[in-house]
Amino acid sequence: MAEHLGTTCVQGGYRPGDGEPRQVPIYQSTTWKYDTSEHMGRLFDLEEAGYFYTRLQNPTNDAVAAKIAELEGGAAGMLTSSGQAANFFALFNILGEGDHVVASSAIYGGTYNLIAHTMKRMGVQSTFVAPDCTDEELEAAFQPNTKAVFGETIANPALDVLDIERFANAAHAHGVPLIVDNTFPTPIMCRPIEWGADIVTHSTTKYMDGHGAAVGGAIVDSGNFNWDAHADKYPCLTTPDETYHGVVYTEKFGQAGAYITKATSQLMRDFGCIQSPQNAFYLNLGLESLHVRMPQHCKNGQAMAEFLAQHPKVRFVKYPGLPTDPWYELAQKYLPNGSCGVVSFGFVGGRAAAEEFMKNLKVAQIATHVADARTCVLHPANATHRQMNDEELAAAGIAPDMVRLSCGIEDTEDLIADVEQALAAV
Ligand SMILES: *Cc1c(COP(=O)(O)O)cnc(C)c1O
Repeated sequence: MAEHLGTTCVQGGYRPGDGEPRQVPIYQSTTWKYDTSEHMGRLFDLEEAGYFYTRLQNPTNDAVAAKIAELEGGAAGMLTSSGQAANFFALFNILGEGDHVVASSAIYGGTYNLIAHTMKRMGVQSTFVAPDCTDEELEAAFQPNTKAVFGETIANPALDVLDIERFANAAHAHGVPLIVDNTFPTPIMCRPIEWGADIVTHSTTKYMDGHGAAVGGAIVDSGNFNWDAHADKYPCLTTPDETYHGVVYTEKFGQAGAYITKATSQLMRDFGCIQSPQNAFYLNLGLESLHVRMPQHCKNGQAMAEFLAQHPKVRFVKYPGLPTDPWYELAQKYLPNGSCGVVSFGFVGGRAAAEEFMKNLKVAQIATHVADARTCVLHPANATHRQMNDEELAAAGIAPDMVRLSCGIEDTEDLIADVEQALAAV
């Protein structure tokens, strides 16, 4: 029986056996007990699957990761402590000192810092391209040492839409995978793997959890990228890992298992960044209603964008569901049923008007958050993108007066009335 996404949201990842708990149990244990030291040794050698220490794996997390992998149509998945950890692991799992990343310039500020600055200190170079760059510009960004291409399906907060198919084709022509951060659409609105993405990441902190309760991240591997065909680029997956007695990940775990097994057994071992099982439990509660919440977020986002677009105090509105939006056509292709609840806009009165507007909101509240059941609002130039200079802000598509309004799942009329009265006060 082919299962639809809503059923997977509710029941995926964990199917209890006879007499077992209906809800995913929280394995609140750091360690597992074994009868013999030899058995433990086989686990440490990756000779046998099993749990021994929660820094590497925990059954609660694995059940929730399996649900997210099912939702994305991937082969394997894992949870991380945050979206930042997910993007770091997704990249660092397959590259290191001397390597290079091609990334879309329209990405989350934290991910930009990670790639442009922190990973640079690890010897990883990067080239940023506008998501609407020409084919020639995209081609010119690649180097012989390029190991991955990175972008966001819908950029936070610029709301540019990634042409996943085009970026995937370019990546594959150079023998490297495309990694797509699918935080904003979630698999309910878009499944990047169907368009050629090889690895999908999430800040589950956003719509997946959906209630502002738990920070978390996830990585899903499609299993489609043939690491062995590009073995010269990815010796980390295709040659012996001496820290596990010479295991070769692609040989032992296959094309579909190598990437996630390595990230789990090597990066989690060395960096930590595991999600707590308690947080995974909260995340799972959020996932159970993801397919019900996303359409309401999209409905509110669309109505808000249309309202703002005709308001005389509004200088510009960015929302991929507006026919006048430069990303509308790509959104029709990749997000035909809606994009997300986030609307970015600016003010005729500039930065000061943005600040005045935010002060006057009553239903929407100022929070360093987005993609929450409750409507929230943020001024990126003052918060998430504070580290960027004006040039970097412009490249990321962020104007100094831009406000990011994240429409929750409240009643549409109440959200619009709130924004209307706050605009009247400007
Ligand atoms: C929030 C966000 C991140 C970072 O996630 P955290 O869970 O806050 O670490 C990464 N990418 C996108 C698109 C985000 O919105």
